[in-house]
Amino acid sequence: MTAAKCYDVIVIGLGAMGGAACWRLAQRGCRVLGLDQFTPPHTLGSSHGRSRIIRTAYYEHPAYVPLVQRAFEGWYELEQLTGRHLLTACPCLSLGPADGPMMDSLQQSIRYHQLHAEVLSSDEIRRRYPPWQLPEHYQGILENQAGILAVEDCIWAQLTAARTAGADVHTDEPVHHWHANGSAYIVRTALQTYSAPSVVITAGAWATRLLAHWRLPLKVMRQVMLWFDVGPRRRDFRRDRFPIFIAETPTGDFYGLPALDSLGLKVAQHYGAPELADPDAVCRQTTPEDAVPVRHFVDQFLPGLGAVSHMQVCLYTVSPDRHFVVDRLASPSASASPVVIAAGFSGHGFKFAPVIGEILADLTLNGTTAWNIHLFRAERFNSPCG
Ligand SMILES: Cc1cc2nc3c(=O)[nH]c(=O)nc-3n(C[C@H](O)[C@H](O)[C@H](O)COP(=O)(O)OP(=O)(O)OC[C@H]3O[C@@H](n4cnc5c(N)ncnc54)[C@H](O)[C@@H]3O)c2cc1C
Repeated sequence: MTAAKCYDVIVIGLGAMGGAACWRLAQRGCRVLGLDQFTPPHTLGSSHGRSRIIRTAYYEHPAYVPLVQRAFEGWYELEQLTGRHLLTACPCLSLGPADGPMMDSLQQSIRYHQLHAEVLSSDEIRRRYPPWQLPEHYQGILENQAGILAVEDCIWAQLTAARTAGADVHTDEPVHHWHANGSAYIVRTALQTYSAPSVVITAGAWATRLLAHWRLPLKVMRQVMLWFDVGPRRRDFRRDRFPIFIAETPTGDFYGLPALDSLGLKVAQHYGAPELADPDAVCRQTTPEDAVPVRHFVDQFLPGLGAVSHMQVCLYTVSPDRHFVVDRLASPSASASPVVIAAGFSGHGFKFAPVIGEILADLTLNGTTAWNIHLFRAERFNSPCG
């Protein structure tokens, strides 16, 4: 039997969060091994589809604001390290009934962190952005501290920075099994056995499989992204004329990004699909029925859009309260260090990846972090997380 190869830290899953963890740990001088079952960026997890929104005025909770501010710095640092353009500044317009929950939560975040944002009436929105047809009682909040991340390039850049800083990055190498043995973790893949005193588990939609011992209540949600042909109205949907948007409506929440390329305007529904247990059982094909809720939304609020030019399936991993899970879990072995995890990003995690990488490096190397991650602790679910 060949001896296990030894590292300081093994990171399992190299999507948005695992790539960031490898990069940040290697930057701090650790001998890191990163393992992924596929070759990221790939289209089977949660980090594909050309673009991701980054925004600062966070309606989900004000605690996210300092983290996203730090994440902006991380993306710019990564651009310098890799020479690849990743983040394109673009304003974000949040839309909803003036007295609805989204407007109220946004205002709280803006007040608490003294952010700069402009409140726009539905008339003003129609005047500035002609494609929008909003009911009178709708309002918009426009913020400039926002932008578009080139998602696949970001994944590539994190892994490139990790490799450059000395990490071993192994792709197409699924982890079949891992366990604690005394003070070490033994990780068995399809090809090899490795050992390290610390493990970081960032397995996205597959996280509960690798973390079965802790019974985290995470589920997978199939999400369909759509692109609409903007044809002769191309100019109206250019990124200098049409902001990113998030809209709260009676039939659900929808978001979209301006037409960045020939595929046109990207629009999708946020949540609104069944919660599933098994990522591998998700249907990856799209059907005409997948377009129905989004078509209904655009026909009402952005009338006159052309045909759907493209559709793609992507996975959310959702927690019950839609907040992240970033924590240290007590190891099954009394003498091993806690297991560091980042999962359940609930459809809004990508923008944070560089700061989550820093937090995962802090938790692994120092056992704690100066960032406020109270909202993300696993024990809130009453799982045996200890
Ligand atoms: C349609 C859609 C739109 C979104 N829009 C936004 C947005 O605009 N802004 C935003 O901030 N966020 C957004 N998100 C959310 C964001 O993309 C996710 O939160 C983020 O990508 C999750 O990253 P992750 O690292 O947890 O998962 P992933 O990036 O999927 O990485 C998990 C990795 O683990 C690997 N893995 C799993 N099991 C194993 C194993 N046994 N062995 C080896 N490797 C394994 C997988 O192969 C995968 O590569 C969106 C998500 C979707 C689906």
